Amino acid sequence: MKTPHTALATAALLALSFTSAQAASWRTCEGAALKWNGNRADMFISTTSFPANSTWDSAMQNAMWHWNNVKGAGFNFFVGRDTDGSSSPDNGRNEIYFNASQTGTALAVTRTRYHCYWLFGWQRGIDETDIAFNTSLGWNTSAVNYANLGSPFHFESVALHELGHALGLLHSDGVMATMNSFYPNGGSLGQFKEIDPLPDDRLGVRSLYPDGTTETDIAGSAFRRTGSGTSGLVSSPASAARGSTISIGVSVANLGTSTRSFNIGFYLSGDSFISTGDRLLGTNTGASVSSGGVLTFTRSLTIPSNVAPGTYTLGFIVDNNGAVAEANEGNNGQSMPRTITIF
Ligand SMILES: [Zn+2]
Repeated sequence: MKTPHTALATAALLALSFTSAQAASWRTCEGAALKWNGNRADMFISTTSFPANSTWDSAMQNAMWHWNNVKGAGFNFFVGRDTDGSSSPDNGRNEIYFNASQTGTALAVTRTRYHCYWLFGWQRGIDETDIAFNTSLGWNTSAVNYANLGSPFHFESVALHELGHALGLLHSDGVMATMNSFYPNGGSLGQFKEIDPLPDDRLGVRSLYPDGTTETDIAGSAFRRTGSGTSGLVSSPASAARGSTISIGVSVANLGTSTRSFNIGFYLSGDSFISTGDRLLGTNTGASVSSGGVLTFTRSLTIPSNVAPGTYTLGFIVDNNGAVAEANEGNNGQSMPRTITIF
């Protein structure tokens, strides 16, 4: 005879470095995944912490939408308002709020209540999840700043991570993932710095809530997995002489549901935006990444000797010849996380 029980588990997002190796994972109950039985969760955003229609509220709703938008997965967050200024881990409402006393030194904590017991068959499922953000820390709701990956912390990035816990995912360390335990998790995608679940995260939500739909999307990133298990910026030179050969770090994420092959063009731009109209420095043909994967490599490039001295942006465009029809064509261009001064 099994003893009926419910459990309350806590997951904290830290701002430290750590070593471990793991990929997308979730709790199980007698061999089956612990998840929301209705493939949905109604999330009540505290209007005391995050006023309705504020930048905080928008960032939180954007993060929910990005999880909902993952194809191959049928899970959906729905937005509610929590206007009473209080919260409880066992009131049957999924609440999102600022509370420094619940987080300790972590950036944020998601508490999940679930059940797993036998009663004429195994009864299992998530019952409630609450997300507390550490209000004693500095936060920002503007674009990711490559030059500062510490405080003030990027609210939407952390929101996307905590919502991953809320739908049932655990940490995924040792890979470039939103569900990495350590800020800045997997970072943003493309030169518009979109905060979107990364390939490993998408494998996770597709495993928990498969719906058979498909998507095609490959994206550039200025981040890479680092040896410490978290993510850091790709390398690129801050300066170079005309005619010299330099090398840059490249990451390409396959957000889609199947393996993709594509070309990559490398460019030098006179402004901060990489486009196919910029000076082409080289092309890689036939790169390939499987679903759930991130391709990371270093590319050598020669700075043309006839470029005028000045400050430029190096970068690349995934599928620069437009051969792959993608769900999101806006995340293909990726600038290096720093400018280059050519002399
Ligand atoms: Zn976490």
